[in-house]
Amino acid sequence: MPRDLTELATCTRCALSATRQRVVVGSGPASSRLVIIGEAPGATEDEGGEPFIGRSGRLLFALLDEEAGLARSDCFVTNVVKCRPPANRTPTRDEIATCRPWLDAQLARLEPAVVLALGNTAAKSVLGFEEGIGRTHGRLVDLGTGVAMATYHPAAALRGGPSVVDVMRADLRRLKRVLDES
Ligand code: URA
Repeated sequence: MPRDLTELATCTRCALSATRQRVVVGSGPASSRLVIIGEAPGATEDEGGEPFIGRSGRLLFALLDEEAGLARSDCFVTNVVKCRPPANRTPTRDEIATCRPWLDAQLARLEPAVVLALGNTAAKSVLGFEEGIGRTHGRLVDLGTGVAMATYHPAAALRGGPSVVDVMRADLRRLKRVLDES
């Protein structure tokens, strides 16, 4: 049974609850056919309470608009881990596992046609990939209820420059085709 999502905003199931400002639950219409899943909130999101509202988010939604004609309001956006890890470190295996029932409950509630995982943490934990994102981006995985794909995290694109951005662009064009066909 999915957990009652109303309890997510006050979750204290792991130590991240002691250092976060707020739980970043996720945002977007419940009718979204596309769910985008990042790693964990950063400082801007911890402060603002919404996922991807900082630099990474600006790049992500600019690319989604340009390559797929999609706006933020066309998708539900969330993270594998709902609370900011101190100093933006990668969430631990335990933190990911403890937070997982919340993500599962969200996916069960939203029943998206397509899931887009951003970066290694989301690709590995949501799609079950063992190899790094450099090898797995753009691959389609049947989740039973819908289709999932991973691409680079926009923070990696900000660091990696045009070559990473170009790969993301191609993945997002593919995402659009998959969304149109499903
Ligand atoms: N990076 C993420 O993975 N998620 C956010 O919400 C913001 C930055």
